[in-house]
Amino acid sequence: MKNWGTEFMNKDIAEVLITEEQIRQRVKELGEQISREYAGKEVVLLCHLKMDFMSISSYGDAQKTSGIVRINKDMDSSITGKHVIIAEDIMDSGLTLSYLTRLLSERQPASLRVCALLDKPERRECEITPDYCGFTIPNKFVVGYGLDYKGYYRNLPYVGVLDPKVYEQQ
Ligand code: 5GP
Ligand code: MG
Repeated sequence: MKNWGTEFMNKDIAEVLITEEQIRQRVKELGEQISREYAGKEVVLLCHLKMDFMSISSYGDAQKTSGIVRINKDMDSSITGKHVIIAEDIMDSGLTLSYLTRLLSERQPASLRVCALLDKPERRECEITPDYCGFTIPNKFVVGYGLDYKGYYRNLPYVGVLDPKVYEQQ
């Protein structure tokens, strides 16, 4: 049986792009900035990670979004008149978020912004930029800190470039 422990996974990482410490520092800075800008306001933080309140998946292969999005589970609460921040892991083609922001705008929130930990602007296929961005990264497939490849590598504490041999072998 394959051992999927962190030690094993480290071997599949071609390059550590952002260290655990760098992520901690930047997340703290973003948190402080957002807290300042929304001081006194009630904010709805919408995560659309696969495990959360709203779950979205796009049809396509493991590394590329098709832009066709399916809502697996919608939010439980109404966002009409609320200040909403969408928390996103990574913005790539931008198709997922462009679809989601259009959909949520129709529900008439007081404001709607996007916070993405990572941004790959080189890959953009539509006009959208995150309002808050942790790190701008090059056009490479990354894993760790919640980002997976076929369900694996999510638990790595840093963001690293997945060695292409991992997906080229398949
Ligand atoms: P977009 O619609 O912007 O192309 O798709 C964004 C989604 O694609 C992300 O939320 C993420 O699930 C996935 N994605 C895009 N780039 C990467 C990457 O480098 N690594 C991983 N693990 N997922 C990615
Ligand atoms: Mg995502």
